[in-house]
Amino acid sequence: MDAQNRLLVILGAGESGVGAAILGKLKGWRVFVSDGAAIKVSFQQELREAQIEFESGKHSNEQILKADLIIKSPGIPEKAPIIQAIREKGIQVISEIEFAGFYSNAKHICITGSNGKTTTTMWCYHILKKAGLNVGLAGNVGQSFSKQVATEAHDYYVLELSSFQLDDMFTFKADIAILTNISADHLDRYDYKMSNYVAAKFRILQNQLAADSFIYNADDAIITSQVKALQPSAALYPFSMKEQQANGGYADDKQLQININKQLLTMSIHELALKGKHNTQNALAAGIAARLVEIRTEVVRESLQDFVNVEHRMEFVAKVNGIEFINDSKATNVNAAWFALESMDKPTVWIVGGVDKGNDYNELAELVAQKVTAIVCLGTDNHKIIEAFKSQVEVIVEAGSANEAVAFAYQLAQKDQTVLLSPACASFDLFSSYEDRGQQFKQAVRML
Ligand code: ADP
Repeated sequence: MDAQNRLLVILGAGESGVGAAILGKLKGWRVFVSDGAAIKVSFQQELREAQIEFESGKHSNEQILKADLIIKSPGIPEKAPIIQAIREKGIQVISEIEFAGFYSNAKHICITGSNGKTTTTMWCYHILKKAGLNVGLAGNVGQSFSKQVATEAHDYYVLELSSFQLDDMFTFKADIAILTNISADHLDRYDYKMSNYVAAKFRILQNQLAADSFIYNADDAIITSQVKALQPSAALYPFSMKEQQANGGYADDKQLQININKQLLTMSIHELALKGKHNTQNALAAGIAARLVEIRTEVVRESLQDFVNVEHRMEFVAKVNGIEFINDSKATNVNAAWFALESMDKPTVWIVGGVDKGNDYNELAELVAQKVTAIVCLGTDNHKIIEAFKSQVEVIVEAGSANEAVAFAYQLAQKDQTVLLSPACASFDLFSSYEDRGQQFKQAVRML
């Protein structure tokens, strides 16, 4: 995109906003950064060093509305007054990923879905890195895509994309797109219409041509019906745990297969670095992507075995007097908690609750009846959880802090049982973030 000294305004000065400012300046834009909240000191310093003008703690409409192009942080909702004013003036608004894409000739492997994005992204990055490729990690994780495009010339990028980022992407193309699954989430940002959210996720396919690839979960009914309706141009690589795939991936409860262009990789699922069906799906998706960039089957197999996941996702914390504690604080929706419970192979004390995003707990009823011996609610308003499970679980208690929850769970669990924090809810009633919730939980366990 031609800058010609035009004005680029960036809303939101976090990792991606600051990266976009640096790239914009390098490419000849006049850049102004505006953040309605206070900008972190380290980012302010970075902007000053790059001689980029910015404002912190306010949005000056007059300056912003002079923009030729606006990059918006995915956290700013469409309803925000500044966005309404920008829309009224008809100024083009894009995401940071779209902007960096203008200046990147690398191969882009892009991952979206309701759950499993970070794990699949990191796993895929791990395989490419281990294979010796010159690869960058960006999107919701790592350094911003823009900053890497400005300062490093990677041949490949593995990008985690949320539906909010996809909403503001138009010309960007994923050479390889991965869609892990779709279940209700963030509906507050999509007029409470599932169809809007599904359409946002499928923007991962926009601009793809026949030479591109689309890797998707063939066991997900929403995805398969949409694939049928849209007839994507890209080559399709489904993965499934129900049906063998001629070109794609398959796993049963023993073995995993990745079958790409008549070359077959097989391995035991017990050798996978991460446990649980959901992680087998993530392994299939990451493994297919790696095979599509022609990484040798041996390297893919090894990387599926030695990957170490990021914190707060089915993370083993400690075993105390024979009771195993697992931190799955990142499970902020029902679907993620479903997979966590599904993977439990011992009787489980389940710590659940927080800010309910319109959850339907019925989906968990069967698993809870089978596996959960007691529930510890960890939220300010727990009535929906108590109502949903009181006929299946005899003991349900309420805790007001991570310490209290761990103390209750430790009392309620017996030797050879598991305590699982997998809240199915957001964390903002009692914690500052899911990371904070996970840290406090781990801290409390370590104090036992
Ligand atoms: P995201 O980046 O999409 O939020 P994460 O990899 O951070 O995904 O995982 C979020 C939560 O979802 C964790 O609790 C994790 O155990 C669970 N999870 C991971 N992969 C999947 C999957 N493929 N399907 C369902 N749940 C998953």
